Amino acid sequence: MSIDIAAQVAVPTQEARQVCALSFADLGLAPPLVRATLDESYSSPSPVQSEVVPHALAGRDVLACAQTGTGKTAAFVLPILQMLSKTNEATIRALVLTPTRELAAQIKERADAYGRHLNVGHAVIYGGVSQYRQEKALRERPSLLIATPGRLLDLIGQRLVSLRDVTHFVLDEADRMLDMGFIHDVRRIVAMLPQNRQTLFFSATMAPEVVKLASTLLKNPVRVSITPAVTTAPTIDQSVIFVTKPAKKALLQSILEEDATAERVLVFTRTKVGANRLSERLERAGIRTAAIHGNKTQGARERALAGFKNGLTRVLVATDIAARGIDVDGVSLVVNFDIPNEPESYVHRIGRTGRAGASGRAISFCDPDERSFLADIERLIKTRIPSTKSDIVAEPLAIASQPPPPAPLRDATAKPEQQRMPRRFRPRRYRGVRA
Ligand code: AMP
Repeated sequence: MSIDIAAQVAVPTQEARQVCALSFADLGLAPPLVRATLDESYSSPSPVQSEVVPHALAGRDVLACAQTGTGKTAAFVLPILQMLSKTNEATIRALVLTPTRELAAQIKERADAYGRHLNVGHAVIYGGVSQYRQEKALRERPSLLIATPGRLLDLIGQRLVSLRDVTHFVLDEADRMLDMGFIHDVRRIVAMLPQNRQTLFFSATMAPEVVKLASTLLKNPVRVSITPAVTTAPTIDQSVIFVTKPAKKALLQSILEEDATAERVLVFTRTKVGANRLSERLERAGIRTAAIHGNKTQGARERALAGFKNGLTRVLVATDIAARGIDVDGVSLVVNFDIPNEPESYVHRIGRTGRAGASGRAISFCDPDERSFLADIERLIKTRIPSTKSDIVAEPLAIASQPPPPAPLRDATAKPEQQRMPRRFRPRRYRGVRA
């Protein structure tokens, strides 16, 4: 599949804007790989490819902050295939470690596509399926191995895989790896890799624990940061409700009980524990709810998602990282139960509703400690999100006394009637449950 990726991403620096004009050949890629990109109808490298590929080919370690959808897979697969094609040793020389089997299968499929004019053997191993076919693929002595941590350790334990000849290591979606509790597996695997190797580290976010892990794996890395475009669809009706933290659950319950148009609702919490507690509370109130986060098994996540898609589950409570792979049409309402501390997450979250021109709504619950996160978001999207009051707010939160936004922000309340605070969220609309 080809998409106009270069048009979808915002490039942070002037230098990055210049490299965007490069072709795949300009990045130092050999003709068989350039041909493969033409076969894929890629017209030019995406920013993450322009920035990562030349450094990777030069043998540098790379720390890249980039999300799925930016073209990051090609950013590591293309240079690795080129480096592996130079020698013909029948042993695993490159390892790509990725958290889920879907991602592993996707990377394998990309390696098939990009490597079609080269002769670099590659194989994929992941859990949840019989190891028979994977063993067979390993007997072909692939140079590139794409793996999820659990199955890799399993096969190493059975002496079917050895990492002693690995010279290139890619850690993909490091933040998700941590969120899914794979840190110990990752460390065990890294301990088996030769010290003398190249490491390419990809993560969608750079939380402190991700940075800590990166610092133990990388040597003098080149840093690359690609941020997705920060535009919110005009079809999404956004609002914020100022509320105290303890009153948030009652507020959500009230909205769900009183608003029949909120048929398929995606709720974001900051923590996994928070997601569980909220989901339990809504279930107790008779609202069909499921939670999806990194501590859930793959099976539980798939079941939760399937129920949400087919309408059996009305509310899906998710953490940001778990929600990344969620691709569900017809989400009528997104609720930011916790305001994200990374403003870009807000854009991703609310982008789950109002898709393909359909209308959608996004409500953010902002407690006093989250005011600065909200200000960051409004700065990023260059719009002031209209505020709504509710009876459930336990104390007056002096909305009116907020300072006006800085000059470049558009005041969304000054927009035409249909974009003002929706009628259903005008003051005293919700039942008086007090925290
Ligand atoms: P990824 O972020 O690696 O998951 O890639 C997302 C999608 O972008 C995949 O479908 C790729 O085939 C596609 N893609 C990758 N690089 C490019 C490019 N330079 N131009 C157009 N599409 C691309």
